[in-house]
Amino acid sequence: MARVLVGVKRVIDYAVKIRVKPDHSGVVTDGVKHSMNPFCEIAVEEAVKLKEKKLIKEVVAVSCGPQQVQETIRTALAMGADRGIHVEVSGKDYESLGPLQVSKIMAALAKKEEAKMIILGKQAIDDDCNQTGQMTAALLDWPQGTFASEVAVEGDKVKVVREIDGAWRPSRSACQQW
Ligand code: AMP
Repeated sequence: MARVLVGVKRVIDYAVKIRVKPDHSGVVTDGVKHSMNPFCEIAVEEAVKLKEKKLIKEVVAVSCGPQQVQETIRTALAMGADRGIHVEVSGKDYESLGPLQVSKIMAALAKKEEAKMIILGKQAIDDDCNQTGQMTAALLDWPQGTFASEVAVEGDKVKVVREIDGAWRPSRSACQQW
């Protein structure tokens, strides 16, 4: 049975009304409520479900960012993740932390932790990039299933069903070996 990494990003809570800084250099984050990115919550839930079905062995929540992201890791642990990894990125490095940097971290951790699968949120609601999963798969040369609405582990294969307008279909890369 396999170990799965799940990326959990700390973002401004979805219900907060975003305010732009007076000098237009970004958005106000001080004193603003932050939470786990909603799509990362779905990723954690999916991984925990796979573990409950005994299809995977361990769920490891990974978050890259300053000390405050430990809160997000704790939320993942409360949801059923077994272990957390905090990759500390702060100051100017955090300001320039984007999908490419996060995917390099995820790819390196996948090798170090000997993970067999990585589940990431469809997108982070702060940058709306929808790039980290695709870049991570490319760096590892792993198959990928995007916009997953169902993930089924079948023996040594993973079947991903994705939503398309008005329907569902198995991902082009469904039933990949893992
Ligand atoms: P994005 O490509 O930025 O839209 O993010 C897609 C997904 O990548 C998120 O839902 C997370 O699962 C993961 N991710 C992005 N940034 C981080 C981060 N700083 N720490 C952990 N996971 C992240």
